[in-house]
Amino acid sequence: MASKKEEVRRKHIRLHMESTLTARDKVGVQDFVLLDAYTSESAFLDNLRKRFSENLIYTYIGTLLVSVNPYQELGIYTMSQMELYQGVNFFELPPHVYAIADNAYRMMCSELTNHFILISGESGAGKTEASKKILQYFAVTCPMTESLQIARDRLLLSNPVLEAFGNAKTLRNDNSSRFGKYMDIQFDYKGIPVGGHIISYLIEKSRVVYQNQGERNFHIFYQLLEGGEEELLAYLGLERDPQLYKYLSQGHCAKESSINDKNDWKTVSSAFSVIDFTEDDLENLFGILASVLHLGNVCFEENHQGCATIPDTHEIKWIAKLLGVHPSILLEALTHRKIEAKTEEVICPLTLELSVYARDAMAKSIYGRTFTWLVNKINSSLVNKDFTKKTVIGLLDIYGFEVFDKNDEECIRPGPATDLSFLEKLEEKVGQHAHFQTRKLAGPKGRKRIGWMEFRLSHYAGEVTYCTKGFLEKNNDLLYRHLKEVLCSSNNRILKECFLVAELENRRRPPTVGTQFKNSLSSLLEILISKEPSYIRCIKPNERKEPSKFDDLLIRHQIKYLGLMEHLRVRRAGFAHRRKYEHFLQRYKSLCPDTWPHWHGPPAEGVERLIQYIGYTPEEYKLGRTKIFIRFPRTLFATEDAFEFS
Ligand code: ADP
Ligand code: MG
Repeated sequence: MASKKEEVRRKHIRLHMESTLTARDKVGVQDFVLLDAYTSESAFLDNLRKRFSENLIYTYIGTLLVSVNPYQELGIYTMSQMELYQGVNFFELPPHVYAIADNAYRMMCSELTNHFILISGESGAGKTEASKKILQYFAVTCPMTESLQIARDRLLLSNPVLEAFGNAKTLRNDNSSRFGKYMDIQFDYKGIPVGGHIISYLIEKSRVVYQNQGERNFHIFYQLLEGGEEELLAYLGLERDPQLYKYLSQGHCAKESSINDKNDWKTVSSAFSVIDFTEDDLENLFGILASVLHLGNVCFEENHQGCATIPDTHEIKWIAKLLGVHPSILLEALTHRKIEAKTEEVICPLTLELSVYARDAMAKSIYGRTFTWLVNKINSSLVNKDFTKKTVIGLLDIYGFEVFDKNDEECIRPGPATDLSFLEKLEEKVGQHAHFQTRKLAGPKGRKRIGWMEFRLSHYAGEVTYCTKGFLEKNNDLLYRHLKEVLCSSNNRILKECFLVAELENRRRPPTVGTQFKNSLSSLLEILISKEPSYIRCIKPNERKEPSKFDDLLIRHQIKYLGLMEHLRVRRAGFAHRRKYEHFLQRYKSLCPDTWPHWHGPPAEGVERLIQYIGYTPEEYKLGRTKIFIRFPRTLFATEDAFEFS
């Protein structure tokens, strides 16, 4: 009988042969690493096109997943598909988002390490869908106990609620996320999902008061009007027709055939009860939404002195009722501002323009803070204090850092100078960070693109470049003190939590959008650095949201800025897998008599003995300071198989 060592060797060879033969299947290669002309962008594009035309939307570059949005249901997310991918080695099945999820999950379980999956790509490329598929995969395939089913349901149902308040129809995507989202799914030591935590970034507040042609406000407003019960709308003083509301009708597409607001309202309403929203919470929450709509309809006129007045106070009365503030004080605060002189406060009337600004700032501020409240509220229902030792898989679905426009002219917009100094401050604070670089972008002929900045997140998988386009200007919602006082006096329970009186007493200026962004980015980096990464890069096949349409130019562009060629080169040259010595040894020690049952020396030496025993060849691996680096996936899988057989 062949020795165990022989057995493992033979297996190595067999797998090697198999992978070489099957990889080049008729529909392109399923891993770009296997492309002959791996440095050629055209070959890359051809392979992607070939696969896309066969509805094969996923392709690997090593362990990174490239996904092309099919814009159609492909039947590849069924229960049986989920079962298929469970516990199967990465390259044994066609590439799939489930394989990425399963791989992270198994690594987490076997090594008790934390992971994150970074999903990037431009708006409409399929990031949010990918993150939902992953969440569903865990919900279905992970072990579960009866008492933890509620935790799972909450994780799943937090999504429709967050999307209702944070997503909107844009020109690029009918369900575009207008906030960045990082979600930790927490698991106990048995791999059961027990809870979660969500961090949101930069909700696009400007959308509350203004939408471009062909775009909508956040879904929730339309859902409320379409689906809300008669009594609810009457209580809120709302009419059903969204066209009647200034904040909902500027994009001229309040009704959109691809969106069923009525059904979505039902989903969101039932989700509310699962994630612990009380009647009282909802009454206050809808009161705020309705106030925003009423606020948008407040009209100003100019009197003879050039000061703003509000001739019709119908809306003011509704807002005052719903927010529990005094109508005359609200009216004054929308048309005046307080100026502090040496010993007294002087009240000055505002011009019409400034009143409009104050009104919109109030709407943006209310909505933005309510969104934060909502995320906190969801988090309190996802928290699970019974489990102190947890491992996590984080899902990062980044919006906001819109990728470069293909049309380089479109970007050059004059913006406020503050954007530039913001960039400088950002560089000062986090610019030196090894994983973080910023760069001012030069426009054509060396002109600076004001209001633009670019940053790179670099990991070993390569670099992803993000670009922020004038978001400071978009998110500006500086509230006049007068209005802040009104909001701090509100009886609406949610606003009471959002606008604390202490803020008025504290004379220091609140953190600017820039500071908030800077802080949230540095804390995000901290979160990511402590975890093992997986990557999904999403590609949008065409600008028209059409199935089966593969726009070469558009895709070529994305291949570039997603750094896919660069990544492929690194993968071809480099070592695809890395494991800490301790983890590697812990898992495979049974394969070598020297390390089984215990190895008492330094882990690195143990690993060296082990791999010599099982016959790794020198080109298959490298030994680093704390980790073993393995070049080919098949090496690791052969070892894994040997382990399973042992
Ligand atoms: P992003 O978050 O990158 O902006 P989304 O994930 O919202 O993009 O995807 C935009 C739209 O594309 C979705 O609403 C859906 O219609 C379609 N889509 C995305 N991914 C898939 C997929 N895997 N299968 C089918 N349709 C998809
Ligand atoms: Mg999205």
